[in-house]
Amino acid sequence: MKEYLVSAEHLTDMLGECTCQFTTVKKSIQILKDNGFNELKLNDNWRIYRGGKYYINIYDSSLFAVDIGTNYDIRNGMKIVAAHTDHPCLCIKPNPEIKKNKYGLCNVEIYGGMILNTWLDRPLSAAGKVTYRSEETFRPNTQIFDFRKSLFTIPNIAIHQNHEVNKGIELNRQKDMIPLCTIINDTMNKDNFFINYLSENIQVPVEDILDFEIYIYNNDIPEIIGLNDDFISAPRLDNITSVVAALEGIIECKNHTGFNAIALFDNEEIGSRTKQGADSSLLSMILEKMYLSLGFERSEYIDAITSGFFLSVDVAHGEHPNKMEKSDITNKNPLNNGIVIKRACSQTYGTDSESIAIIEQVCLENDIPYQKFVSRSDVSTGSTLGGLSNKYLPMRLVDVGVPILAMHSARETMGSKDQRALEKLIISFFMA
Ligand SMILES: [Zn+2]
Repeated sequence: MKEYLVSAEHLTDMLGECTCQFTTVKKSIQILKDNGFNELKLNDNWRIYRGGKYYINIYDSSLFAVDIGTNYDIRNGMKIVAAHTDHPCLCIKPNPEIKKNKYGLCNVEIYGGMILNTWLDRPLSAAGKVTYRSEETFRPNTQIFDFRKSLFTIPNIAIHQNHEVNKGIELNRQKDMIPLCTIINDTMNKDNFFINYLSENIQVPVEDILDFEIYIYNNDIPEIIGLNDDFISAPRLDNITSVVAALEGIIECKNHTGFNAIALFDNEEIGSRTKQGADSSLLSMILEKMYLSLGFERSEYIDAITSGFFLSVDVAHGEHPNKMEKSDITNKNPLNNGIVIKRACSQTYGTDSESIAIIEQVCLENDIPYQKFVSRSDVSTGSTLGGLSNKYLPMRLVDVGVPILAMHSARETMGSKDQRALEKLIISFFMA
């Protein structure tokens, strides 16, 4: 099989398992462990060494991993590849059960900037974290779980009941986005049908469950499609493509003189301003603790930052075949034409020409196709976690990613060749 299709198939497998930030971190940890990475606990006293490979689970929804070269030379600084673990979705509220005549529905709030109507008529499942009673007040028990079965759907209204539907309709976030999950019958507990179902599935008594963070996700099957297997059509391409490529990069790279790290952050889709998000000092604290533990002075840690490089990896807007006019007039980014380097003079992508030149040289030396992205001047550009993290780790930075169509739809589209290009970029970046 062609190399890029192997990567595309691996990505579709991972998309089926990375269904929310918690399951994404859980799966990523399993992969790191299988590849010789050892766990460090956030608040332990660390004894770490050159030649070691470590990971830190950050509150179960963010993850940090590092490969420290056997002959790490501090003059090489540090290299960090960052991506986000969350995606726009529906989040189940406390006391979620809603009864309407015979219908049982589940109350939700909306997480991130999703395209609402794409979530209608889909098979939806849910995954997340449940907290329940323990012996220790400050250490409640937790369980990360995934139902892995379609349980919900948000039905559209028939065209016969709204003849205007194709003129576009506005969906109300509280009224129109409520998932249906059951028909109420006489044998079920009508007030607790969801909590009872949850309790049975995670095998924790209802009375012990204290709280939960449960995300409803699109349970569509990810697929490679097109006359020549040209595309990947799947939920959560934003940003599991980047998570998978970051993991591939740190596992595949063999650099004996480098300090290579990946940071997978939660909460990018809601602004990153959380303890486990990119707009937090936690990563810089972890790095400082690591450098001190390796025997370096604080001044050497600061030098490692300023000679470091941060690759912020997230999806980009590909050129849309039916809306060509939405792209910039001289910078187009069709799918399957390489990874995208993003820039904006507003510094929403916090980069400079020298940083971009470095990444271009990495691409040119390793035969990696790339293209540049800027927004049309009359369209406000998106932003990424790179600029936020750069406040705490002021080092050279470039924003890159694969171009996709329909960003934040329940199902997005990317080029099948672009995943391998992104993986090669991250491996080559770590090796350079
Ligand atoms: Zn993203």
